[in-house]
Amino acid sequence: MTSIFNVTKEELESYFIDKGEKKFKATQVFEWIYRKEVYNFDEMSNLKKDTIEMLKNDFYFDELKLVTKQEDELVKKYLFELNDGHRIESVLMKHDYGNSICISSQIGCNMGCKFCQSGRLKKIRNLTASEMVLQVLTVQKDINERISHVVIMGIGEPFDNYDNFMNFIRIVNDPYGLAIGQRHITVSTSGLVKKIYEFADEETGVNLAISLHASTNEKRNNIMPINKAYNISEIIKAVKYYIDKTNRRVTFEYILLKDINDTKLDALNLCKLLKGINCYVNLIPYNETENTEFKRSNYDSISNFYDILKKNRINATIRKEFGSNVSAACGQLRAENN
Ligand code: SAH
Ligand code: SF4
Repeated sequence: MTSIFNVTKEELESYFIDKGEKKFKATQVFEWIYRKEVYNFDEMSNLKKDTIEMLKNDFYFDELKLVTKQEDELVKKYLFELNDGHRIESVLMKHDYGNSICISSQIGCNMGCKFCQSGRLKKIRNLTASEMVLQVLTVQKDINERISHVVIMGIGEPFDNYDNFMNFIRIVNDPYGLAIGQRHITVSTSGLVKKIYEFADEETGVNLAISLHASTNEKRNNIMPINKAYNISEIIKAVKYYIDKTNRRVTFEYILLKDINDTKLDALNLCKLLKGINCYVNLIPYNETENTEFKRSNYDSISNFYDILKKNRINATIRKEFGSNVSAACGQLRAENN
């Protein structure tokens, strides 16, 4: 038995073929679930009784229990409880271009980035594809509006849960699934280089963001332990491969930490590093969290940093603040309710 929300349409097609049935039944089941929001095989009225019984033997409908919801006008933060009692968070953001959800991919995270609240809790386990899909379905149901964009930037390192993450993307992107376009999906990684190559070879149109946060190995080692396994030049090499393979622009995320990585020299090093790469830099004002020594860079440092990138013709934006009223900003998830 597995949750039906773990299963891609291709997998369900093979299932039906193995059972000697027509593969289009997979499309029918997907339409019931993801179009009509019917979470019960008995109500799938265009399927035969035997087919329904067969499905009931092999699959069940999983759900997420909503524990709390905090909201302001544009942001809603959801705390969910999983079947084994662990808790995860998802954040919905209302943009002018649509509703975007930020989902978690693991319970805790093993990467141990010094500035990140989510990483304070060691990884307990990976989320299943079902638990990722259900974050989208449950929030969509709650707001009673379509979710058009997905970012995998909540708790966890998605490339450390690669297979489930890929199934999640396939289900979300499937035209008979949630039908969210690949260009409306963004995955962020702290730089698991091997998986960047693997992901490049999938040749999806999903947006890739790399959490860089420093322009020298010395500095990156200090704030992101993963850099000791995969250093900056290995990341850059993998990113170049990704761009060659997919022809897509890559985003580099760079949190500005006061006196740590926000000087003029840091900016110049970053320009050297990224010169000639089809990318843009997302400068992120640090969201201060409890128990970290880091401070947000002041306004002048942020805008000087930005100006240096611009002068060197590196595309850059300063991330708009979102969600700090409800502690739903990046890196603040699971700061409470532990
Ligand atoms: N594990 C993945 C995705 C989740 S983190 C990754 O690290 O890329 C999503 C983004 O939020 C990352 O760029 C991360 O570095 C950033 N982030 C973490 N803590 C933050 C904080 N306190 N303030 C601002 N951004 C933060
Ligand atoms: Fe994990 Fe990403 Fe936080 Fe690093 S920034 S600890 S990789 S969730």
